Amino acid sequence: MGDFWEDSTTCPLCGRAFNYTKIKYDSIRIEKYEDDLKPIFKGPNPLYFSILTCPKCAFTYFSEDTDVLRKVSKDTKKDLKNYLKRARDKLGKIDNTKNKDIDFLKKQYALAGIIYRILNKPGNVAKSLIRLAWIFRDEDKIMEELKLLLSAVTILEENFKNLNSDEELILYYFFKGYTSLRIGKRKEAKEFFNKLIGRYRNSKNPYVKKAEFLKGDL
Ligand SMILES: [Zn+2]
Repeated sequence: MGDFWEDSTTCPLCGRAFNYTKIKYDSIRIEKYEDDLKPIFKGPNPLYFSILTCPKCAFTYFSEDTDVLRKVSKDTKKDLKNYLKRARDKLGKIDNTKNKDIDFLKKQYALAGIIYRILNKPGNVAKSLIRLAWIFRDEDKIMEELKLLLSAVTILEENFKNLNSDEELILYYFFKGYTSLRIGKRKEAKEFFNKLIGRYRNSKNPYVKKAEFLKGDL
């Protein structure tokens, strides 16, 4: 009780106003981070509530992405709307409340991955796939988890020339190293952790720090 509050927002695609549940800032307690900085929370998990789906058009996005469509062309928006018309039926009941179930959350992250691909935002495609992978990790479904992490890396790799923020580049180098480590390619893991550390030597980014830590064992 008392960990949640209701907020409202407006769908960036169709303009519909809708309510959603947020976790109170004081209720977010991180117990620790796993090797790829997946947070383990004591109490409610904010990653369940940081993704929203419009109840009218099914546009699905990270809650902070309210202006994600600002520079998007009319044609792309049309493509998106057409895609969502078909995808909406598979979603089942759209739920942005604290009662949303894990199957719906998985569908949200999977759909977000496709939507951000249509919007040509490889960093957010990868972020959606990594979040989805983490849910499978929590369920001990390691093959599904790894497949999704590797897909996230592939997306970043295929779009390497278009990665235009440090955040996206760091995500690429780190997860290329991390997934290599997970599948036993130690040499490749070391290579990519070194690339990350070399490029962002003085950065305080936690992924750079983690790469330094993981590299110690290689
Ligand atoms: Zn909408």
